[in-house]
Amino acid sequence: MPIKILDKETIDQIAAGEVVERPASVVKELVENALDAGASQISVEIRGGGISLIKVTDNGSGIPSNEVELAFERHATSKIKSPQDLQNIGSLGFRGEALPSIAAVAQVEMVTCADGEKSGTFISLEDGVTALKRSQARPRGTTVTVRNLFRRVPARLKFLKSVPTENSHVANVVSQYALAFPEVAFSLLIDGKENLRTSGKGKLLDAIIDVYGVEMASKMLPVGVPDVAWSGGQSTPDIRVSGMVGSPELGRAGRGYLSFFVNRRWVSSRLLSYAVEEAYSGLLMTGKHPVAVLDISLPPGEVDVNIHPAKSEVKFRNESAVFRAVQRAVRQALVAQMPVPGIEEVAAPYRAPARGGQSGTPTAGAIRSAPPEDVTPPLLMTSLPVLRVVGQVMSRYIVAEGPDGLYLVDQHAAHERVRFDSLRRQREQRQPDVQGLLEPSTFEVTPRQDEILKSCYGELADFGFSLEPFGDRTYLVRTVPAMVAGDDWPAMLRELLDALSGEARSKWEEKIIASIACHGAVRSGQALTDDEMRGLVRQLEQAANPHTCPHGRPTVIRLSAAQLEREFGRS
Ligand code: ADP
Ligand code: MG
Repeated sequence: MPIKILDKETIDQIAAGEVVERPASVVKELVENALDAGASQISVEIRGGGISLIKVTDNGSGIPSNEVELAFERHATSKIKSPQDLQNIGSLGFRGEALPSIAAVAQVEMVTCADGEKSGTFISLEDGVTALKRSQARPRGTTVTVRNLFRRVPARLKFLKSVPTENSHVANVVSQYALAFPEVAFSLLIDGKENLRTSGKGKLLDAIIDVYGVEMASKMLPVGVPDVAWSGGQSTPDIRVSGMVGSPELGRAGRGYLSFFVNRRWVSSRLLSYAVEEAYSGLLMTGKHPVAVLDISLPPGEVDVNIHPAKSEVKFRNESAVFRAVQRAVRQALVAQMPVPGIEEVAAPYRAPARGGQSGTPTAGAIRSAPPEDVTPPLLMTSLPVLRVVGQVMSRYIVAEGPDGLYLVDQHAAHERVRFDSLRRQREQRQPDVQGLLEPSTFEVTPRQDEILKSCYGELADFGFSLEPFGDRTYLVRTVPAMVAGDDWPAMLRELLDALSGEARSKWEEKIIASIACHGAVRSGQALTDDEMRGLVRQLEQAANPHTCPHGRPTVIRLSAAQLEREFGRS
């Protein structure tokens, strides 16, 4: 084909693709516009995962009638004027791309009324072109309604996840901005039901209570230390780190609880995540991640926000200074609440035993140092022979004797396998092993988790979790799977909901099984009695798939009699 300049429609679609990836991106842009307009109340409503409807209403400054059409032109903005302004961005938007991008991939209507105007303006657009404009009354502020998102972009539509997943992304966006702007009252309605409402009282702690619940909020510690020190002795701009972080006991399974705002813009940043994780080093259990809600405020010239159309990433001029400021501020907050003596001693009990078989877990001793070919790979027969338990080593492995040599069983991996198989069986026979709670227990979830939970009741019930709605993002739990009854099942369930939000629905059941199987399983580092060891080995012998744990790691290693003979120079 000869080279040609693309037509406007194609150009618009390409440009829109960079800004509007999914329904949650539309919500993000519209909420940012409302915040830039100085709104103190922002309500968001979505239907059908945001595909059928997204509606954002604010009480901000509105758009004057004669500028309404311009707002939908590409690169039209009231927020900057010149290249110099790019160095000094104080607003969330500045690229003038959001409204035209949204209008390029959906049907859009706006009703807006600016300060000092007698009447407001209604405008509707089809395929990015004004279809109707007239005056319409409304109080000061703006409402944008977006319908049939991506209807004309089937490629994009195909990439969207399930409705619950898209809902949970939207809930996350609104939650993040609710945390960043505690002085703004947010509400989120999903398919007619309230998902989130914040008071807008202005205190971060209030916003954290609204988003994460009282229980989590009660374990948050304040952060707030101005940092002016800077290596190399240059005169330095202030980097102010403020917000709250979770005490170490609040460790979470994923990084979904790290919220970063740079000059109150919600960003994702590996640098900042890493700085926070560094501050917690030695304080969290292996595999756990901290909870943090932090705002990093610094002179606008110190940070470039113009590196991505979605404005969700930023570049710091002096990365190491930012890293150090964040790490130090968080560490100080943690140290301040630690009881005397020093942090290192206190840290020790938190260094909980690592889960068995995790890669990187040092496996000391003779077996590891022997050349690999001297260890027989896991036997590839379907069942295990009957084993005689000899004892336990390193509180981690069970030593047993079999008909042809020595067997080492990874206790955690083995127990996980046994539980996994048993759950599978319960599922196939539709007979979950259920434990009723002595008293029904309340269970509180975040807006994001709520969306997932609402759509996986059925799956959870299949395994024995009976949950019923009990007010605001709170559920009453009457029964739980017997396997986790004696355990911290609320923590397990929360981790599970977080994990499900990133999974296709078809994987949910498998995830639920794996999560229940892992959670209450015997840990590595747990001393076992002879009876417990014998019991576990008996169960493993009967497992359908005894040689690997559900993640595919070996449960058993065998040293054959012949190998031993050879090693001892007897053969
Ligand atoms: P940007 O936010 O980058 O300027 P947008 O396309 O998001 O670009 O919006 C274009 C312009 O429309 C904004 O600069 C602003 O003047 C106006 N605008 C958009 N949404 C609102 C709103 N909710 N309230 C007031 N003005 C708005
Ligand atoms: Mg904008």
